[in-house]
Amino acid sequence: MIVLKTSRELAAMRDAGRISARALRLAGEAVEPGVSTWEIDRIVRRYIEEQGASPTFLGYGGFPASACISVNNVVIHGIPHKDQKLKAGDIVSVDVGATFEGYVGDNAWTFPCGDVSKEARDLMDATRESLFEGIRAARTGNRLGDIGSAVQRYVEARGYSVVRDFVGHGVGAKMHEDPSVPNYGTPGRGVRLLAGMTIAIEPMINAGGHRVRTLPDGWTVVTQDGSLSAHFEHSVAITKDGPVILTLPD
Ligand code: MG
Repeated sequence: MIVLKTSRELAAMRDAGRISARALRLAGEAVEPGVSTWEIDRIVRRYIEEQGASPTFLGYGGFPASACISVNNVVIHGIPHKDQKLKAGDIVSVDVGATFEGYVGDNAWTFPCGDVSKEARDLMDATRESLFEGIRAARTGNRLGDIGSAVQRYVEARGYSVVRDFVGHGVGAKMHEDPSVPNYGTPGRGVRLLAGMTIAIEPMINAGGHRVRTLPDGWTVVTQDGSLSAHFEHSVAITKDGPVILTLPD
């Protein structure tokens, strides 16, 4: 069931989104060679808790941290670890959720650690731009397939592939609500987009093939072929005046 939000609920979601966006920005500022993914997770958790919010991911399905930190060939759901120190040239995807006064903000960004290769930078640029292509398609009158196809068209034209096994989602009082929001699709197909829908659009884009697999820890998702992967996400409200990004830091 898709829950349409009132303007009051959208305001509450913007508050939760702001906290998650600021936590993500702090995480990005901490990405440096020699820093452990565990330290970045601590920064995220401390900031969210200082705001009177709670880290949505902590304990979700048993996830042991407040941020998912996914380096290089890790697509999503990387578990922060004290022994995992970042190196110059890494690309570091950080996914952060904050729950505040009953609503969730969910966002992700891939940060370069020091100087990264042109290959890595091009992948990050294309994935970020594909997110905004998807957001631009998130308007009343369109359908869900218009979002996915906008993302897919943009990245496939540049030789990248869209992860199929994981998708975006509705977001609101719960982190994962209906509908599922694939990053691929057919224009004009799928659920009609209505004002009051709130969705997390989150392209996960691989430099190589689209196939992924989950490591034995049950969480870490990696590219099957070992290629780099990038991940960008915003929580977005569909309104009669167009898409509104809920996860902005200011
Ligand atoms: Mg999400």
